Amino acid sequence: MSNEQTSPISEELLKILACPACKVSVRLEDNKLICDECGRRYRIEDGIPVMLIDEAEQPES
Ligand SMILES: [Zn+2]
Repeated sequence: MSNEQTSPISEELLKILACPACKVSVRLEDNKLICDECGRRYRIEDGIPVMLIDEAEQPES
């Protein structure tokens, strides 16, 4: 058994992803992609990041 963390997406893919609202890179956290600029969270479905503003989870405040 490997103790390596399984990532839902590859590092290569993560590098090219950007928040569609802010055009800044996002970071991976809890299987979601977080934009630190606007706070939106984008989910990953079957390894495919859903980078849609309408589908994103908005920050609480
Ligand atoms: Zn953003």
